[in-house]
Amino acid sequence: MTSLEAGVTTEAQEASPSRKESGLGWPDVPAPSTPPAPGRHSSLGWPDVSRETSPLDGPALLRREVRLDPAELAESIPTADDDTPLAQEVAHDARRRLVLHGQRLPAPTHTRIMTVANQKGGVGKTTSTVNLAAALAMSGLRVLVLDIDPQGNASTALGIDHHSEVPSIYDVLVEDTPLVDVVQACPDIENLWCAPATIDLAGAEIELVSLVARESRLLKALNAYLESRDAAGEERIDYVLIDCPPSLGLLTVNAFVSAQEVFIPIQCEYYALEGLSQLLKNIELIRAHLNPRLHVSTILLTMYDGRTRLSAEVADQVREHFPEVVLRASIPRSVRISEAPSHGQTVMTYDPGSSGALSYLEAAKEVAERGQREGASA
Ligand code: ATP
Ligand code: MG
Repeated sequence: MTSLEAGVTTEAQEASPSRKESGLGWPDVPAPSTPPAPGRHSSLGWPDVSRETSPLDGPALLRREVRLDPAELAESIPTADDDTPLAQEVAHDARRRLVLHGQRLPAPTHTRIMTVANQKGGVGKTTSTVNLAAALAMSGLRVLVLDIDPQGNASTALGIDHHSEVPSIYDVLVEDTPLVDVVQACPDIENLWCAPATIDLAGAEIELVSLVARESRLLKALNAYLESRDAAGEERIDYVLIDCPPSLGLLTVNAFVSAQEVFIPIQCEYYALEGLSQLLKNIELIRAHLNPRLHVSTILLTMYDGRTRLSAEVADQVREHFPEVVLRASIPRSVRISEAPSHGQTVMTYDPGSSGALSYLEAAKEVAERGQREGASA
């Protein structure tokens, strides 16, 4: 089977036998289609997701063959007399890589503070936070990631030390430690910093309850940090991305109070929309009572699998309901993305030529350009 064929939906996948109500009053999301045809599973019986296909990508096989070195990339662009569709596709893919990897993104007019939230677990919050942060930093912007999830996954993926002795966001929230004392530079990527989370943070939800101004402790610390950089003549941080835990507790509330924007990753799977109305309701409450500037600015579709009708239908529904805020770029399901954190890296450095890395570069471009267009509606 060629890589092009891997993206073709089979008859078995086309059949979508049962439909179920989501319970949210949204149009039906079809139940998962029948399993992929034989030959699409690994020897372990898991779906074989190594063939990364997405409408945004060129053929996977070609992607693997194309290198990121500009000279090699330029060489891989076929000559004018080679006008076969395959050669043209290689050319298109190579040009796209050259543009994306060389991109310099426009700086926003002010520091954009985005909370990456969805109380549903495992939808790609952390993956999107770290890869978007890396993509923005690699495109010339200064980015700070605040890891406020006790799991500390964002800290791990950014290669940031976060064992229990390390000063962390827990100290900032509970002990009033200045943020500057806990921020570490990401070892692999210039202009990218992270305030790590340690396991201590697991108790913070409870400890915060009895503290003064419990909902705005992160805001206070972040403002002091940004102002101190300014006072010290250091260059302004362009983006602050806050990676939230999968809950709507006090940690997430602190993130909502600190930000202007909410960035919601939605996994292209069944049940993806469940819980979304609760999330939107909570954002509305925060807006009404604690932070009037908060708004949902961005939705990113993650783990998109071009081989299934389900992914396409979930994506269509989300786009239909939130036409203004869903990014055109979606993130394909990709083995390279899921492998990267175990190497203490983002996919942006682990496999910069992969479809996952390119998709995050595309998402970063849209985020930055929208910010310019809308003045990032501060
Ligand atoms: P939690 O709610 O636990 O914080 P999360 O929303 O932060 O989870 P992630 O940790 O980013 O979700 O992702 C969940 C899992 O899915 C991880 O194992 C991650 O490596 C994997 N994953 C995320 N995005 C992709 C992708 N595009 N392709 C393949 N695997 C992915
Ligand atoms: Mg996470």
